[in-house]
Amino acid sequence: MGEVAEATGYADLWASLHAIGRDAGTGGYRRFAWNAADLACREWFAAQAADRGLSVEIDRNGNQWARWEPEAGPGSEAGPGSQAGPGSEAKAVGVGAVAIGSHLDSVPDGGAFDGPLGVISSFAAVDLLRSRGWKPSRAVVIANFTDEEGARFGVACAGSRLMSGLLDADKARGLRDADGIRLADAMERAGLDPHAIGRDEERLGGIAAFVELHIEQGRALDDVDAPVGVASAIWPHGRWRFDFDGEANHAGTTAFDERRDPMLTYAHTVLSARKKARLGGALATFGRVRVDPNGTNAIPSRVQAWLDARAPDEAVLAAVVEDIREAAVERAGRDGTAVEVQNESLTPVVEFDGALRGRLSRALESEFGTVPVLPTGAGHDAGILAAEVPTAMVFVRNPTGRSHTPHEHAETMDCHAGVRALAHIVADLAGGESGS
Ligand SMILES: [Zn+2]
Repeated sequence: MGEVAEATGYADLWASLHAIGRDAGTGGYRRFAWNAADLACREWFAAQAADRGLSVEIDRNGNQWARWEPEAGPGSEAGPGSQAGPGSEAKAVGVGAVAIGSHLDSVPDGGAFDGPLGVISSFAAVDLLRSRGWKPSRAVVIANFTDEEGARFGVACAGSRLMSGLLDADKARGLRDADGIRLADAMERAGLDPHAIGRDEERLGGIAAFVELHIEQGRALDDVDAPVGVASAIWPHGRWRFDFDGEANHAGTTAFDERRDPMLTYAHTVLSARKKARLGGALATFGRVRVDPNGTNAIPSRVQAWLDARAPDEAVLAAVVEDIREAAVERAGRDGTAVEVQNESLTPVVEFDGALRGRLSRALESEFGTVPVLPTGAGHDAGILAAEVPTAMVFVRNPTGRSHTPHEHAETMDCHAGVRALAHIVADLAGGESGS
C-alpha cells in the first residue's frame, strides 16, 4: 500500500459516495442541482468535514466550504486578514485562504470522477498532510461548488458564476428546469434564501488562490505517460438554444409537401453544425433536445435544441456559431419553419494565472519529474473564478479520455498521485516558513 492509501480514508471516501445518485440500470450518476441526490452529496460533504474537525459554511449562493484553520500562534501570521511578512512565500498568492475542491453534481448519467475526484482528493490531501504532521499557516478551504454542470437549470458553473456576478441574480432565480420548477424555488426548498444570491465580495476577498483538481477530459496525459498535469487555458465556450417552430400534424395523413416539420430543420442544423465547426477548427454539439408534442405518430410543432460550441479563440467561436445560425435560418426558409437562436451562456477564453501555474509546475516537478502543461476544451469553476483570484488546475490522467459517461475512469495509482500533488500544492501555498 502507498502512503495515500495508508494515511487517508481514500477508499472509504469513494465507497461512501459511490451509491448516491447512481442509476442502477446505466451505472451513471444523476446528481442535479438541488435534487435529492445532490442534497445527499451535500450532506456527505458536511459529514466528511465534520469527521475531520473542519467547519462548514454555505455561502449565499449555496456553495459549500469546509475550513481548516491555522492554529493560533507564531506560525499564523499569514492567516486571513493579516499581511504576510516580507520575503514570505505565502505573500506570492496574497492574503486569504488557499482554496481547493471542485463539484459533486453531474451531467445526466455522468461518470464517478468528474467533480467528485477533486473534492475527495481535497479531503484526502488534508488527511495526508496531517499524517505527515504538517500544519497550515493560513486557512485551507475545500469547496463544493453548486450546480457546476448546469444539467437541471441550463447554466453551467451557476454557483461560481453567481458568486463572481457573471450570472445575474434575477435571471438565475427565474431559471426553470424541465418540470417548470424555478431555481429560486428549488433553492428555497433546500433551505436557502434565493433573495441572497449574487456577487459575494466578501467570499471572493477571502480567497488567496484556488486550485481545482479534475480528471482530464481527454487523453493528452496518457499520450505522454504522465499521471498528473497542469492546465494552461480553457477554450472559450458557450451554449445556444435553437427554437425550431413548425406545425403539428398527423404522420400518416400529411403529405411531405404539406408539412412544416421543425425536426427536419433541426436535423439539417445538426449536420451543418458538425461541418462548420470542423472547417473552423472548433467543436459543436447538439446533445439536448426537447420535442413537442413528442409523439411517435405526430409531426412535431416545435423542437428546442441546445448547441454547445467551443473554439481556441473567441473570434473563431463567434464566427462558427454565426455560420450555424445562418445555415439553420436558410434551411428553415426551405422547410416552411422558423428558427430563433438565443445565447444562454458564454464564457471567454481563460488563461490561468501565470505565476501560480509556474509555482505549481515547480512544486510538482520535484515529485513527478516533468509535468505536462495542457489546454482544455471543458469549462470549470476554476475558469470562472480566474477573473477574480489567482486560479490553477491540476489534471489527473484519464486513460480512455472518456468523460460525461459512466465509462469515465481513472486508475487508483493516478488518483493517489493526484492527492500527493494536491498535498504538495497546499503545503507550498499555505505553508509558513517551510513553503518553497
Ligand atoms: Zn467537472
